[in-house]
Amino acid sequence: MGKSTEPVKIKIKIDEEPEALASTLEMSEAIRTAPKNTNTYMPLSAGIESTAALIYAVKDPLMQPFCVHWYEPRYGLFADAMAFYTRKQAEYFGLPYGNDKSMLTMLPDMKDVPIIVSGLSAFMSVVIGQPGGFKLRYFMMGANAEDDMRMKLQFREYRKICATYLSDSLDGSGVKLENIREVPQIMNPLDFLTKAEMYALIIRECPDMLDLVWTCFNPQGTLKDNGKITGYIPCGVCYKCQELKQAKKTAADAVYRLQEGEKYFSRILQDMD
Ligand SMILES: [Zn+2]
Repeated sequence: MGKSTEPVKIKIKIDEEPEALASTLEMSEAIRTAPKNTNTYMPLSAGIESTAALIYAVKDPLMQPFCVHWYEPRYGLFADAMAFYTRKQAEYFGLPYGNDKSMLTMLPDMKDVPIIVSGLSAFMSVVIGQPGGFKLRYFMMGANAEDDMRMKLQFREYRKICATYLSDSLDGSGVKLENIREVPQIMNPLDFLTKAEMYALIIRECPDMLDLVWTCFNPQGTLKDNGKITGYIPCGVCYKCQELKQAKKTAADAVYRLQEGEKYFSRILQDMD
């Protein structure tokens, strides 16, 4: 994110941080003490892809997600909005949740480190450093058909780093079978869906989630009730807002609409209001 935009100023608001912030160490502890059957590391951003992936994971009998948001204070209100909505999503399904606040990108003398790098390094630390054995079996990925390959390649290298490290081997030729098994599998069951198709999936499978999706990187403020934040206001003009609008339009024009008719279409229209 942010390649074509102005550099984001570091903005740390310690007294206003959302609840449930945790370091990678605290996250590791939270995963260790999560319900015994917890087996899926589920990164959430509150965007369309991770929301669709969460709905899938919740309904998959093999997966018990632990929801993680990679919190970046330097994104200011955008970070707070994502933390707010990802937390709401986890709460909706009654799942354990934590904001992993990797400090790497907050160091003032460093260049902008992409969130995927700090996030994956936080994930790897949790896997390798997990006290009491390996609990996580799956890493749930939310990438759509357009950007799936880039994600897949990045994630594959992280699995290799974990496996070679655990096997004490300098390359893949010495990796032990049991160590490969210990490194969570990358799951991306929705890899063939476009953003618009994922949006349609959310509408069909769990329309309540539409109120908990957040994509705008330029929030215009918060909604409050008795001083308590109840939501954030999207700008409606940034490229992420436009992208979401286009996904809704595409979903509204889908062949499926002709096949299934009114209900699907009217839900999209309601959501577009
Ligand atoms: Zn926006």
